[in-house]
Amino acid sequence: MSPDAPGHADRYAVIGHPVAHSLSPAIHAMFAEQTGQQLVYGKLPAPRDGFASTASEFFASGGSGLNVTLPFKQEAAAWVDVLDKAAGDAKAVNTISCDPGGTRGYNTDGLGLVRDLTENHGIPIAGARVLIVGAGGATQGVLRPLLALGPGSLTVANRTVSKAEALVDSLSHASRGVSVEVCAPEAAAGPYDLVVNATSAGLEGVGRVVSGDAVAGAVCYDMVYATGPGAVTAFCDWALSAGSPLAVDGLGMLVEQAAEAFLIWRGVRPETAPVIDALRRGAPPV
Ligand code: NAP
Repeated sequence: MSPDAPGHADRYAVIGHPVAHSLSPAIHAMFAEQTGQQLVYGKLPAPRDGFASTASEFFASGGSGLNVTLPFKQEAAAWVDVLDKAAGDAKAVNTISCDPGGTRGYNTDGLGLVRDLTENHGIPIAGARVLIVGAGGATQGVLRPLLALGPGSLTVANRTVSKAEALVDSLSHASRGVSVEVCAPEAAAGPYDLVVNATSAGLEGVGRVVSGDAVAGAVCYDMVYATGPGAVTAFCDWALSAGSPLAVDGLGMLVEQAAEAFLIWRGVRPETAPVIDALRRGAPPV
């Protein structure tokens, strides 16, 4: 418990560089209101070389939990005292809890993506030919949860092909007999059933991250998200124009991974649909 939080409510925050844009405080405020939990959730900006000192200070001053965003997920995995299985496999942490035994790191991104794809959008993974574009921390976190659902094949394409190769090499037995391939984005020709954009190119307004042949006829999913009525990400916009029948963004993944973090911290899983709806309508960030 923090002495300086209102009513001594438990204190949480999202740590990153930058964090000004983060929707996490708005999401957790809605979760807390919905479930009647007393907590405060803020933004914790850290200098690029200051993750460890900023996180240490937060917990030393009574903080209860952190979400971790770019560029600190891998550093957080090395920093926490204990890693849960998903975070250890991914070597990336997006949620930290703290108890008298120390800090514990989790990765809820994979579960967030899988829940949004399968439960919110009804997109089947089993047997599907899946292409994931990008080989950064987000791909690292979602590869195993995707493979666990038994896709027909999985291809990882990345601008820097060696990074995709390293990720796939690290999977070893986790591929569970699924054919896993690596290629450069322009070489991914398909056909695919599902194309997941896990690059950050959209943050620079770039939508075309792979060949047009790859998305033609494929359901597309962009981990980048847009909020506000009618807002569309650069990748979704491009994929639809290149022949994708359906392109959805990652707002649902963001809310689902946050709900898993809330469950870890508070022991209750909030309803995600009303929160996704509110953000789609453009609910103001707190
Ligand atoms: P990261 O570790 O920095 O990796 C970035 C990836 O994007 C790398 O594969 C990089 O390729 C690629 N890339 C960057 N700019 C590109 C460009 N102009 N053209 C093609 N590829 C480009 O980031 P991350 O943690 O994996 O996150 C990736 C994206 O997913 C971010 O936008 C993040 O916000 C989003 N995300 C969303 C959620 C959610 O809940 N919706 C959760 C996690 C992440 P190189 O390897 O060649 O540099």
